[in-house]
Amino acid sequence: MKSNHQSPNMKQSHASIDAVGIPIDAEGIAHEPPLPKQYGTELLVLKEGKGVYLWDVQGNKYLDFGSGIAVNAMGYGVEEIARIAADQIRKIVHTSNLYTTEPTLTLARKLIASGPFQAVHFGNSGTEANETALKYARLYAKRKRGEGHHTLLTFTHAFHGRTLGALSVTPTEAYREPFEPLLPGVEVCPYNDVEAFKKIVNERFAGIIVEVVQGEGGLEVMRPEFARALNELRDAYDLILIADEVQTGLGRTGYLYASEAVGLKPDIITLAKPLAGGLPLSATLIPEKINALLRVGDHGTTFGGGPVTTAVASYLWDTVSSPDFLKEVREKGKFLGGALDAVQKEFSSGAIRLTRVRGMGLLRGLEVEVEKGDLGDWMKRILQVARKEGILVLRSGKNVIRIAPPLVISRTEMEEGVEKLRRALKIVVS
Ligand code: PLP
Repeated sequence: MKSNHQSPNMKQSHASIDAVGIPIDAEGIAHEPPLPKQYGTELLVLKEGKGVYLWDVQGNKYLDFGSGIAVNAMGYGVEEIARIAADQIRKIVHTSNLYTTEPTLTLARKLIASGPFQAVHFGNSGTEANETALKYARLYAKRKRGEGHHTLLTFTHAFHGRTLGALSVTPTEAYREPFEPLLPGVEVCPYNDVEAFKKIVNERFAGIIVEVVQGEGGLEVMRPEFARALNELRDAYDLILIADEVQTGLGRTGYLYASEAVGLKPDIITLAKPLAGGLPLSATLIPEKINALLRVGDHGTTFGGGPVTTAVASYLWDTVSSPDFLKEVREKGKFLGGALDAVQKEFSSGAIRLTRVRGMGLLRGLEVEVEKGDLGDWMKRILQVARKEGILVLRSGKNVIRIAPPLVISRTEMEEGVEKLRRALKIVVS
């Protein structure tokens, strides 16, 4: 494995600059930043963006195939988002949920009209949206069905967030181990396994939380027959079926909600990542049957659903919920999938092999297998060389290169990105 590849994308100088007292090298990397080590000890310092491109503090340019982990659907430097946010900040920034505002109500009305929902709880992050959904599932089971129905079902390779409740339904050991013991009353079923699912579920459950595409867990897509089984057993036992669409929702897969694509009929949908154009906002969409059981004070948040984030989110919603926009994303997704199929074929044998293209729409993955050496080291190297070639990609699970560009990306930009990724792979295997 070679380690010191110098790309033409990078500035040749090795001089360090010292921004805010932190040394930053010519590749725009801050070493030992004063941030927790969970983020690593080397971080790329980004400065600005326009469209699907980003620049670091050293002036190196990147095409963004990651969107800040599937957040920046509209790309960077969107004037309309800046204008809406600035206008709202001048009027009122925060009220708390003791009061509400017109932008909050406007967005809530738009969201509940997107399905069989009566209300929306706003939060600030994906994990909070899921915490809320899990709490509502338990509350519903207790108030409607009585004690003894509190178990929550999750699936292998799921990712639902880092707070203790959402982490409790995230089975991957590496995320959980330092914090165990977590919440009791959680069971795990193999994803997409209809028979195992039918065996496990009974009246002791309050709810099921599931992703349609496992965004962090390797980009496996839900099979329609699995979606059918989830719908049926939810009905049979009066469970709350929660679709975690934090990563897949709002057009990422070419559908407003990925649930639609596979026939999943959730009671609750959780949203976050792209919802407020990069500002922190999440939503937990709930049906009448849950809302009817809620009492004043059951749940709440100080910041969630403030007027600035919801004003921006209305703009994002109007854009991504348009049928023409969604059709375009589906077409772009097909194009990207085809381009990645070609890359997969090109690298289907050798020291590192691409074995499968996964995902849906503009949430795609290339599955990597290695002949020898540490898979984690190889994955790190692929992402690092890609960066040096001027393309930012993500990882999903242990062995999947994840690609989630801004939804506004053009075909030419996708071609450019895939070519950069291909070049990076060539360097890594050479
Ligand atoms: N759920 C899914 C499916 C996610 O992909 C993520 C984040 O990657 C989360 C929940 C947690 O979201 P957040 O990091 O905003 O808390």
